[in-house]
Amino acid sequence: MTAQTLSFQADVSKLLDIVAHSLYSEKEIFLRELISNSADACDRLRYLAIAEPELIADQPAFKITITVDAKQKSLVVADNGIGMNHDDLVENLGTIARSGSTAFLDKLTGDSKIDVNLIGQFGVGFYSTFMVADKVEVISRKAGEDQAWRWVSEGAGGFTVEQAERDGRGTTVRFKLSKGRGEFLETERLRHIVQTYSDHIALPITIVEAGVEAAEAEAVNQASAIWTRAKSGIKPEQYTEFYRHVSHGFGEPWMTIHAKAEGKIEYTMLLFVPAEQPFDLFHPDRKNRLKLYVKRVFITDDCEDLVPAYLRFLRGVIDSEDLPLNISREILQNNPLLKRIRTAVVKRVLRELEKKAGKKPDEYATFWENFGSLIKEGIYEDSDNRDRLVQLARFRSSTTDGLTTLSDYVGRIKPGQEVIFYITGQDPDSLAKSPQLEGFAAKGIEVLLLADAVDDFWLGVVPEFDGRKFKSVTRGGADLAKIEDAGDGEDASDSAAGDDATNDAEIAVLIAAFKQILEGEVKDVRTSERLTDSPVCLVADEGDLDMHLERLLRAHKQIEAGAPRILEINPGHALITALGKLVKKKGLAGEVEDAARLLLDQARIIEGEPLPDPAGFSRRMAAFMAKGL
Ligand code: ADP
Repeated sequence: MTAQTLSFQADVSKLLDIVAHSLYSEKEIFLRELISNSADACDRLRYLAIAEPELIADQPAFKITITVDAKQKSLVVADNGIGMNHDDLVENLGTIARSGSTAFLDKLTGDSKIDVNLIGQFGVGFYSTFMVADKVEVISRKAGEDQAWRWVSEGAGGFTVEQAERDGRGTTVRFKLSKGRGEFLETERLRHIVQTYSDHIALPITIVEAGVEAAEAEAVNQASAIWTRAKSGIKPEQYTEFYRHVSHGFGEPWMTIHAKAEGKIEYTMLLFVPAEQPFDLFHPDRKNRLKLYVKRVFITDDCEDLVPAYLRFLRGVIDSEDLPLNISREILQNNPLLKRIRTAVVKRVLRELEKKAGKKPDEYATFWENFGSLIKEGIYEDSDNRDRLVQLARFRSSTTDGLTTLSDYVGRIKPGQEVIFYITGQDPDSLAKSPQLEGFAAKGIEVLLLADAVDDFWLGVVPEFDGRKFKSVTRGGADLAKIEDAGDGEDASDSAAGDDATNDAEIAVLIAAFKQILEGEVKDVRTSERLTDSPVCLVADEGDLDMHLERLLRAHKQIEAGAPRILEINPGHALITALGKLVKKKGLAGEVEDAARLLLDQARIIEGEPLPDPAGFSRRMAAFMAKGL
């Protein structure tokens, strides 16, 4: 049979191109990646062999062997793991199936300096071999099958697959080192690399020179699962390397939780919170990325019940002593023992986060920037831990720099203020400029600026905090009059009392006119307590959905049309007073009608609402500008 020639998926070619030309200064990490893959392959077969022991009957011990051939200038990394058949090779080494990869690839800019950084976070796995070799050969035989296959590639162009021979199951990766990479032929250098990056791998890794019997070589790593070792004997770098292995990435952990539970149920957890947002964080599957082991045997990395979805930022391992080894995925569902582990793990993680939030608020702020929106998902979903999660939450607000807690907000509350004010929207900066906040700013009243999509949802399940209800500043009345002023106590609206009566009368007529003109488009028109600078804004009626939530629900097709809004006008604004006078003098003149429509459209634009009649808006605007010039 002649070799079959295939092309890489476009994404792989893109990656290979970057890898070959620009990637890391530390070329040595190719070895770490190959060992990591081999270890995973052994883990997967060990699990299958619980149900089908014949799969490993010929070679019960798992191992990874690195062979150096100084004469040929080649390296061989071989394992006796699960192996790959023809289709596996094409699928696994020809495409990128890892979740988050699309999100990652979309971020690539083509500018190698920026892209190298991104790739550093993503990890290119097997393809990193092309940093040290121009041509890579993989010979693999799947456990339980007789036929072996050879996969060969010289990089981005594509690869070939053909039948081959291999003694026993497993995978062999073979390549000639490219020019200038001779350092990787020195066994001492290789030993150092393995000890630096792969000491945590739980099976023996040996280095042999071509021609020397592998059985004589000693393992260069400790070959025991890192989480089973005493914490005191593990260096921070070793934790970091294990984190990189389990997260398929290159970053640093922000927090490491290594704990053993003994007593009624026994398990060990070695969990990491990443220092950066993983690319798959907002993947719709919301799957957690933890690995479940039972007595050191890898069982699955696809166990939904291990931790709740909102903790999907965690990476690492949970190893149970009590679950049966031959546990199937189905049995894992609704397993009471697993539920208890889950409950305990959640509590432990929350406790560690609380400690960090208390002792190192700056570091906690980094965590919050990355994963705060997930903690808010937790507030919504995890009623058992809701109170703790609410305490862990941090917020931007209209009157403070940085982040605040709800307790601190309540501590700063003004006399007469009974509620916690908030506004929801797309991003904190534009929220801070919302016209609805003006009256609050004038009185120095603090408003939480909530810019995560999930905010509108958790607010629905947390009716109050510390006895204070949450109130949107874009819904219902503003109730500002009851709250004491931040300044000297003088209410600004009292000062110009002389003109008030005429102004009030004109405004009343203007409101009546606006109501008539905008009939059917708004629910009501009224004077505003919350505007000081802007002429108009939209608000939701007390019993209606908050405007931002409604927009979200419409975008996700959860509801069709929204309820009409209330248009609030600012009686102190020059434009509004002028319009008041105009209406009084001329009644419902054409300019008043145009002005009413323009002002409503303006209010819609500020809300981020599409205009129902953009052409009309533009025509009226042009007419007004022409008049003013
Ligand atoms: P990752 O390991 O992050 O998934 P890689 O590009 O390193 O990405 O590998 C792609 C896939 O190829 C792996 O997920 C695995 O299914 C398969 N693979 C790689 N190396 C081996 C190996 N030594 N034995 C068995 N399968 C392997």
